[in-house]
Amino acid sequence: MSGRCYYLADSTPAEQVKYHYNSIVYSGISNHTGVNHTSLFDMALGLRSSRQTNKVSFINKPNNIKGLYLHNTNPTPCDVLVIGGGPAGATAATLLAERGHHVILLEKARHPRFHIGESLLPANLPLLEKLGVAEAVKAIGMEKWGAEFNSPWHDHQQTYEFADAWDKSMPMAYQVRRSEFDEILIRNASAKNVSVTEGCQVQEVIFLPDAQGALVHARHDDGRLESWCPRFVLDASGRDTFLGNQLKAKQRNKKHNSTAIYAHFSSAQRNLGKKEGHISLFWFDHGWFWFIPLADGMTSVGAVTWPYYLKTRGKKSLDVFFHETIALCPQLAQRLAPAQLESAVEATGNFSYVCDHTHGDNYLLLGDAYTFIDPVFSSGVMLAMQNAFIGADAVDTCLRHPDQTATALKKFDRSMRVGPKAFSWFIYRLTNPTMRDMFMAPRNVFRAKEALLSLLAGDIFSQTPIWTSIALFKTMYYIGAVSRLKRTIHAWHLRKRNIRPVVETSAAHGDK
Ligand SMILES: Cc1cc2nc3c(=O)[nH]c(=O)nc-3n(C[C@H](O)[C@H](O)[C@H](O)COP(=O)(O)OP(=O)(O)OC[C@H]3O[C@@H](n4cnc5c(N)ncnc54)[C@H](O)[C@@H]3O)c2cc1C
Repeated sequence: MSGRCYYLADSTPAEQVKYHYNSIVYSGISNHTGVNHTSLFDMALGLRSSRQTNKVSFINKPNNIKGLYLHNTNPTPCDVLVIGGGPAGATAATLLAERGHHVILLEKARHPRFHIGESLLPANLPLLEKLGVAEAVKAIGMEKWGAEFNSPWHDHQQTYEFADAWDKSMPMAYQVRRSEFDEILIRNASAKNVSVTEGCQVQEVIFLPDAQGALVHARHDDGRLESWCPRFVLDASGRDTFLGNQLKAKQRNKKHNSTAIYAHFSSAQRNLGKKEGHISLFWFDHGWFWFIPLADGMTSVGAVTWPYYLKTRGKKSLDVFFHETIALCPQLAQRLAPAQLESAVEATGNFSYVCDHTHGDNYLLLGDAYTFIDPVFSSGVMLAMQNAFIGADAVDTCLRHPDQTATALKKFDRSMRVGPKAFSWFIYRLTNPTMRDMFMAPRNVFRAKEALLSLLAGDIFSQTPIWTSIALFKTMYYIGAVSRLKRTIHAWHLRKRNIRPVVETSAAHGDK
């Protein structure tokens, strides 16, 4: 089984205690017989009298966590515990509760809370339908029928409409305020019998041997400690990558690196009619900008830049630096000329990473908790939710048919790699002049443009037969790159320099 975890294990001075602890915790968790788990647990530890005061449980800690664990030794059993109530966590929790599992979802924030990532893809819509929230999202969303590409090196704007994709049944998506969108998803989870606790941060997960489940320790906003013993853990903690960090599985993406600086504006100059909700992308010397019109009149604007550029901020405030950055892109500056800044400017750094595995015996990593590459194709929310659908299937199988666990997890693992593989090839090349030329003048040779549009719509998990045409698009790219070899080599060197990691400073943490 892939994945690493650490276990309750032999440990002096508590060897005897450990023996009882392990055997009794197993019986409590594995057969769910209604055994008085807590009292057996306490008797084994001899901690009945000290439990009320959150005393010591004797657990052998991994090397990176020092000392004895101080916690309430009264864990509540459940089938599945989900860490994080963003799109991945809320979706997976809902689906598993709908199938009759007892699901606990812990979210460290309280919804509605701000989150970046406001542009959805057409492939999100069927998932929203299945969750039963399509109408609620429609009510808060700005209709997004296409995408516009603007390049200072080309004298025209290129518009793509999703209706022209290979599969014509997915012509639109939404731009959403994530505070509203994520709240819809988490309230839907509550309504479908997920036990949701907000303001509760998971602090530690201890996996039991032989895939017998886990102990999860969390801290409430008010300082209370609480523990659960789920049979399965889903890490949907987003870019906090809770398990990725704990298991030391998170790695920097050596092929990519970027940073972002973003804010909301009112009165930005928008397109008219059906094109009002188009997402616009503007290339500039240090990366690219997004321009995302929201339903309430606000427009989300962000610059995704190479890390060195954010470092040039020095001691300037983020507001000043952001306005200076916008001025470097005249096409965007023009659309923001009448606009006013309406939110704090925020920045985030070095966000491209991947964990070295997708799952272990009794845990899965979902959405950003597994990987995040780059926001350019607005694929994050769709992939997080898609991961949750396939993850829920896998967990359901593991819990109901343990003999099929290996097959279910293998299928999950394969599916987790589809999105990053499909999008990363384009992400790594999007600032290359050959790719820019192709995006600015798409040709539908062998339906390559339709296939590209399907990919941009997120239609990569269905049976839509786009892959031969995508391969052809890639071939055309390589031919174009070779035919302008000097330019290609120069761009390659530049990119290699641009993705070098830069020591993170306050500039990358949104400090004012
Ligand atoms: C600059 C930028 C722009 C982006 N733009 C887009 C876009 O336009 N479209 C798009 O689709 N995607 C975009 N993304 C990506 C998108 O934001 C993410 O891919 C998406 O939010 C992933 O969903 P998730 O559920 O995996 O994680 P999240 O949405 O991050 O949710 C994780 C949740 O877990 C909670 N949590 C974390 N740790 C703990 C803990 N220990 N205990 C309890 N709770 C915890 C957090 O509070 C959070 O609510 C963008 C990303 C960046 C960085």
